[in-house]
Amino acid sequence: MVTKVPDKIDTLFINCNIATMADNALSIIEKAALAVKGKTISWAGKEKDLPGNFKTRCQKIIDCDNGWILPGFVDCHTHLVWGGSRSNEFEMRLNGASYEKISKKGGGILSTVKATRNASKNELFAQASKRVTALLNQGVTTLEIKSGYGLDLETELKILAVIKNLDENFPLDIKATFLGAHALPPEYQNDQDGYIDLVTETMMPKVKSQGIATAVDVFCEHIAFTLPQTRKVFEKARDLRFNIKLHAEQLSDSNGAFLASEFNAMSCDHLEYLSLSGAEKMARHGVTAVLLPGAFYFLKETQKPPVETFRNLKIPMAVSTDLNPGSSPVHSMTLILNMACILFGMTCEEALLGATINGARALGLDQSKGSIETGKDADLVVWDIDKPSDLCYFAGLTLVDMVMIKGGINKKNP
Ligand SMILES: [Zn+2]
Repeated sequence: MVTKVPDKIDTLFINCNIATMADNALSIIEKAALAVKGKTISWAGKEKDLPGNFKTRCQKIIDCDNGWILPGFVDCHTHLVWGGSRSNEFEMRLNGASYEKISKKGGGILSTVKATRNASKNELFAQASKRVTALLNQGVTTLEIKSGYGLDLETELKILAVIKNLDENFPLDIKATFLGAHALPPEYQNDQDGYIDLVTETMMPKVKSQGIATAVDVFCEHIAFTLPQTRKVFEKARDLRFNIKLHAEQLSDSNGAFLASEFNAMSCDHLEYLSLSGAEKMARHGVTAVLLPGAFYFLKETQKPPVETFRNLKIPMAVSTDLNPGSSPVHSMTLILNMACILFGMTCEEALLGATINGARALGLDQSKGSIETGKDADLVVWDIDKPSDLCYFAGLTLVDMVMIKGGINKKNP
């Protein structure tokens, strides 16, 4: 840890412990202090190493009462702007209907598409605001949100505009991803290639010209889009200089991760059915694996992603809520941490790295977010816990004491 002393400090945290998440480990500093200047972290280390006149040079001193400071969570895969509700489907599934069967019957995603098309921007913003607030209150400071419930130009742009609005109105950093190739809209039921043409020739240039998404994603799966169709979207994404992400190998091995790696994707997400050759290709191209235990849990899946292979190949593993109405209505990163450990066999350290620095990697933000290091954004959460693994252990308990985003205090519990 660099210990260069800044001229002036805005906030000084004392009497704390820090899990910096630097160097791909918890990297714990006990009996620590942390200084913030402007929007960035300016110093972190042992409190006893604080220079003598340090405290006199800061605006605000916060005593953490021996609590823990971790980087704010990076929830790197959500679909949290949608209209309507799918709670009725939850009951259908409990009565035996599979996700696949519901999807084939025109339910599932398409019922959300209909409700999202009919909703106004204000209605979508109001609904999504509640979800963003829930995530923020549980320590999320950076968030990715995908479009993909419009499946026509007008509604896809409407969703992306709502995401932009959320980014402007909430303190969190919110990144938008265009997922036009999420499902086939009803008006193209017999013309999959025609829809992909609409996505690549009409929607993507428009999204690019409006500057309202930085990445493009595709749902590559036998119930969604084929490998050649995915390639077509990626080629266009490369031409238009979008970052690339992929929903890959969730329900079957479609070789999606192999293709995405060829295009140097930032991440491949889900990956339950990933082959060894697909994983090796990801490793060669530095692609992050985003694991989504909420969907695995909610769909009662049994095929787990190859965590041991990711370990062996040193592929970074991110974890995320996948917050969406059909397969993961989960609004809590700490619950996801617990699921990642219990369902996927990740260690607490791996799960916490997944929710911080590796989440940032999946969004290409690891130079500024995801760990506590000098010069990085001061996105910090003070937790009322005895040790970092408590965040994985106490499923459903909110232990947030304070959330700071870019040096500003956004939430403080009494
Ligand atoms: Zn998803």
